[in-house]
Amino acid sequence: MSTLDPHLQDIYDVVLRRNPGEDEFHQAVFEVFESLDPVVKKHPEFADSKVLERLCEPERQIIFRVPWVNDGGEIEINRGFRVEFSSILGPYKGGLRFHPSVNLGIIKFLGFEQIFKNALTGMPIGGGKGGSDFDPKGRSDREIMAFCQSFMTELYRHIGEHTDVPAGDIGVGGREIGYLFGQYKRITNRYESGVLTGKGLGWGGSLVRKEATGYGTVFFVNEMLKSRGDSFDGKRLVVSGSGNVAVYAIEKAQQLGATVIACSDSGGYVVDRAGIDLELLKELKEVRRERISLYAAQRPSASYVTDGSIWDVECDIALPCATQNELDEDAAIQLVKNGVCAVAEGANMPTTPGATRVFGDAGVLFAPGKAANAGGVATSALEMQQNASRDSWSHEYTEERLAGIMAGIHERCAAAADEYGAPGNYVVGANTSSFVQLAEAVLALGVI
Ligand code: GLU
Repeated sequence: MSTLDPHLQDIYDVVLRRNPGEDEFHQAVFEVFESLDPVVKKHPEFADSKVLERLCEPERQIIFRVPWVNDGGEIEINRGFRVEFSSILGPYKGGLRFHPSVNLGIIKFLGFEQIFKNALTGMPIGGGKGGSDFDPKGRSDREIMAFCQSFMTELYRHIGEHTDVPAGDIGVGGREIGYLFGQYKRITNRYESGVLTGKGLGWGGSLVRKEATGYGTVFFVNEMLKSRGDSFDGKRLVVSGSGNVAVYAIEKAQQLGATVIACSDSGGYVVDRAGIDLELLKELKEVRRERISLYAAQRPSASYVTDGSIWDVECDIALPCATQNELDEDAAIQLVKNGVCAVAEGANMPTTPGATRVFGDAGVLFAPGKAANAGGVATSALEMQQNASRDSWSHEYTEERLAGIMAGIHERCAAAADEYGAPGNYVVGANTSSFVQLAEAVLALGVI
């Protein structure tokens, strides 16, 4: 671990003391602080006004019981969370994650990341995150609906189109957003489209929202490659995961001329040197909600691997699109040895700090999630715009907006990295540029 400037270390020590046991939250805070030394030196007014201390303390943390009845007639109790982290730039905005690993520390790390990511988009959205330790895997549709309805029966009182606007994340897609929206509508007797994003296309959703996180990640990598006079053409990609982010990163990378040779789920990974058959993958994951092992069973060019790591597969570009801390230092060393030239985080914080350092030292282009996966939440903000104006835009126009937003984020990161003495370092660029924007707003709005 690197060391922090003493002033930043003092603030970090307080974060550690006040949030015991929340390892992922500590990691997310540390990763931002590591970049900020030159900013706090240039702007002493930020330290004087305790901007960092204020940004590290969520505005509101809500934890609630979620009782529901399973298909066997048994009562199950889960825990629900919504951490409303910062509304300094707009209503709290960020997804809901349903996964057994969810706890307060995970939601706080995601909420903290979200503040900076959302600032980077340049759109008027604050940061928040929520979810539950509910495991949707293997549940019937009726069970999912019962859980979502119970979850919303508490959550509804905390959210609203001008207050807090949840969306999806791991385990929460169009189906879950539908049940959540239905229950919100029933309880409040309001057709308030802008209260949730990631809605279905027939009832207030936006074209391109489903694809946006994966597409955006690939657009961002494309900008990085362009800055080095390079492109996706002919590149071999490894994409971890096979959820919404991974599937649409694969789709856009293929459209730009790359061959995606591997993807994964929590059980293992598939290698398909002929290139992933996207139609088969979508059918298995989106329609049948199946495991990826079935992909290999149905495709002669593919093999299914359950031991080792997907990062052992030789590639030019790696996109970790599964979950936090899935790409560690050893994996990074292997990727560098295999000649990787670019890595971008489609998931939130999938790369450990040690792995990020390995890529930096090796001169590999590295895009942090705050920048690379911001296309999802940015398109959520476009969905909110459409809802507010009771309009819906074409696929072409919405994708163009997304591409423009990702190019803008790339430009802001590159400029801030130059300004703060770390040219080409997108981690420093993303952290400093978003922090300055947030800090100026914190000062402007007074002690609130
Ligand atoms: N869960 C996504 C993220 O991590 C999207 C959030 C949203 O659309 O509000 O950014």
